[in-house]
Parts: sequence; C-alpha cells; structure tokens
Amino acid sequence: MDLHDFSLRQLREGLQKRDFSAQELTKNLLKRIHTLNPELNAFVTVTEAAALESAARADDRLAKGESGTLLGLPMAHKDIFCTAGVPTTCGSKMLKNFVAPYSATVVERLAAEGMVMLGKLNMDEFAMGSSNETSYFGPVRNPWNTKMVPGGSSGGSAAAVAAGLVPVATGTDTGGSIRQPAALCGITGIKPTYGRVSRYGMIAFASSLDQGGAMARSAEDCALLLNVMVAHDPRDSTSHPAAASDLLRGLDRPLQGLRVGVPEEFFGEGLDPEVAAAVQAGIDQLAKQGASIQSIRLPNNPHAVSTYYVLAPAEASSNLSRFDGVRYTHRSSAGESLDDLYLQSRYEGFGAEVRRRILVGTYVLSAGYYDAYYLKAQQVRSLIREDFRRAFAEVDVIVGPTTPEPAFALGAKNADPVSMYLADIYTIAVNLAGIPALSLPCGFTGSGLPIGMQLMGDYFADDLLLNVAHRYQQETDWHLARPNLKAGEA
Ligand code: GLN
Repeated sequence: MDLHDFSLRQLREGLQKRDFSAQELTKNLLKRIHTLNPELNAFVTVTEAAALESAARADDRLAKGESGTLLGLPMAHKDIFCTAGVPTTCGSKMLKNFVAPYSATVVERLAAEGMVMLGKLNMDEFAMGSSNETSYFGPVRNPWNTKMVPGGSSGGSAAAVAAGLVPVATGTDTGGSIRQPAALCGITGIKPTYGRVSRYGMIAFASSLDQGGAMARSAEDCALLLNVMVAHDPRDSTSHPAAASDLLRGLDRPLQGLRVGVPEEFFGEGLDPEVAAAVQAGIDQLAKQGASIQSIRLPNNPHAVSTYYVLAPAEASSNLSRFDGVRYTHRSSAGESLDDLYLQSRYEGFGAEVRRRILVGTYVLSAGYYDAYYLKAQQVRSLIREDFRRAFAEVDVIVGPTTPEPAFALGAKNADPVSMYLADIYTIAVNLAGIPALSLPCGFTGSGLPIGMQLMGDYFADDLLLNVAHRYQQETDWHLARPNLKAGEA
C-alpha cells in the first residue's frame, strides 16, 4: 500500500513510529498532486512552500514527543474557507485575486492542531451547483471516470480525496454539496448539525443553510477531522453553545437495536434502479448487523427542492451584494458612473448561474412577491422540519439514497438548470431542517461508478451517524475501493 492510500490513523502511526516524516509525507502527496491534478483540476491553488514549512514545524513538534491526533497530517480546504495570505476564490472570477486578511475559524483550528494544508480545492462558483461545472477555474473531473462530473459544489474536495491527493478535506453543504459529491466520487462525507461548525470566514451563500463539514475515505477519518472542526465560536452568531463534543467516543458502538427508518418518498419515480438496488443492499447489511428496519413517511420531501430554490437564492442575493466592484472584488474598467461600475463589475465578475440566483432571489423578496414566495417557502420549511421531528420520534436514523443517479457526463445537464437542481432531491430537506446527514459508499454501477447511501439523524446525532457508518464500514469494503489512476490518463 502506498502512503496516499493510508487512513489518518495509519498515517499517524507511521509518523509516531518515524517510519516517515511529515516532510516526506507532504512531498509524496505534492508529487501526486503535480502528476494527477492537471487532468483532475481538483486543486485551484497548491501551497507547496507553506506546506513544506508547516510539515517541518510538525516534524519538530513530533521530535519533541508531541502526539496531537492530527499533528503533521495533510489536508486541503475547499476554496470557500478564508486562508490568510493564500488566495480564496470561491470558484469565482469575482474573487480571482482575493487574498483574505484573516483565516476562517475552521482553518485556524485545523492549523493549530498541526495539520499541513496542501492547498485550496476547486468548487462550483459561490457553492452554487451540483457538478463543479460553474467554477470559473473549469470543471473538476471524476477520478472514477474523467468524462463524468464529480458532483458539486465540493467537487474538488471529493475528487482530491477519492484520487488520494489528500486523505481528508473540508467541504460545505447548503443543499447537498458535501454528500452529493461524496456519493458520486465514492467517499464518505458528513454535513453536521447546523450550528456545530463555525461559519466565520466561510464565504456565505445561504446563511441559514450553509454548514461546513468533513470529507474522507472512511467515517473514522471524517470523525477525526470533524472532531476538531466542531466548537462554539463567539464570532458566529448561529454557532451553537453545545457545538463541541467527542465525536469519537461512540464510534464502535454495536448496531443492535438501532431503529432505522426508510422513507417511501426516497424510492419513487426518478430513482436509478442500480442506485436503488445498492442502497437496498446497504439497508439489508444494517439489518444483518442488528438494526430493525421500518418504513416511514416524509410527506413534504417532494416540496424540498422548490422551497430551497426560493430561500437559498433570497439569502444569496443579500449575501452577494457585498461584491460590488469597489472593495476587494473584480472591478470593471468599463462604465461612466458609479452605477455603471456596480453593474458592469457584477456582470463581468459573476457567472451565469450566480446571476440567475441573484435575479430569482431579488424577485422573491420584492414587495409584490414576498408573501407569495418567500413567506410561503418559510412556511413549507416548517412543515419539512416537522416531518423529521415526527420521524425521529419513531426511529434513530433515516436511511436512503444520497442521489437519484450516479455521476453524469460533463455537460449533460448544463443547458437545463432544473434537471441539475434535481440532483439534490434527497439531500436538500436535511439543510432546510438543519439536521445532520452523512453519505457513504454502498456499491458500484455496472459501469464502475460509485453509489452513495445517505444516513440522516436528529439534531446533534452527528456522533450516531458516524458510529453507524463506521460499523457498516467494518463489515463492508466499498470504501476501500480506489479508482485506477495513472498520470496522463487520469
Ligand atoms: N446544488 C445545490 C445548489 O446549487 C446545493 C449547493 C450547496 O450545497 N452548496 O444550490
């Protein structure tokens, strides 16, 4: 086995036993990035010099006998997290030259643990998308088949982890952006309970839905990373006072007696039969490990996508008003007046999907339409939350597919935004409710594309989801499969 296949635990053991140094490990992965990234396009920035310096610092700390859980271990951030001194583009021309003067709380916390950041990962522009094709820096390619999309918006993170460029990465999930790319790239990804991971320094898309989380090849590695990310942060007003807790403590609990609910609404029309079969096999496996399975209803789930596409653009239109061409963004050289400067800078700086969201958002918030759209959507959001409340009175975990279909071809859905929006049909309700959810690999299609199974839990049941996924991964080996990558034909 090569270093790039090692889990965090294996890497940590290797570092502690001095089988290799943090600098050797860093160099090894940087080399792999240089070989494979030209084709995958997962990284937009590689911070080689800074990575080698922080690896050297980690080696010093290791030599002094320090044994932090993540000390010297490599990772990379989705390019939505502000990193002091390093470009933070959010996948947009608008922020092409933006170097944040400060770091996000998540970035600070992982750096303080002694993790080595290798760079910043590609994403859909301002996290709007499900295929990574809206990025100003070009699409990311799926390591399992480079004609296919990796999913989005955390597509760079998912592809980098699947291809072994980094063992773990951060992502963010507003409507599915951690879970959907995790499913399409055959890795594990968790969107925690809203309020558990600080949004400070994480560029805002839809603030009531956005949540940072962890992406890795196994649930255990997700838990190790997320455990450091969760904390109460006074700099984020929606950070929960009880955000921190030990996510590793219950990881090994047996699944005997676990009550699993399977929502009827997740197995209807539009679900690919190969995905349905693999997820059903995953559910059978949970039953074999001692879980009891029952059918449940989430009757308002069919309204989740439309509700989201009122609320998320409304919040985005407000959040994105700060990109005005005057301060730290792209500035147009055309135009005569101040109004022209705003208009032209925003027209040139934002891509088509972002402009579409701003238009929809301002429309649903406008005086004549607020009640009909925005207010109505908030009411449906309450119904969706209520569905989950009722369900979690009967079951501990809800299980279903993460996506309706496996990875699709690059370009396949670009002309039809609504078909792209439907890629998140099973993930979006979770964000509207604010509950945690996780995607883990549960099989492959006949043509070798990964399939993801989704676990959803009640508020603050993040540790339970990681526990269920970890136990599942001890009995199955879907998460151990690796794409066959060779330089030049990645
Ligand atoms: N695909 C959804 C969107 O485009 C979700 C994105 C996300 O979770 N950031 O809005």
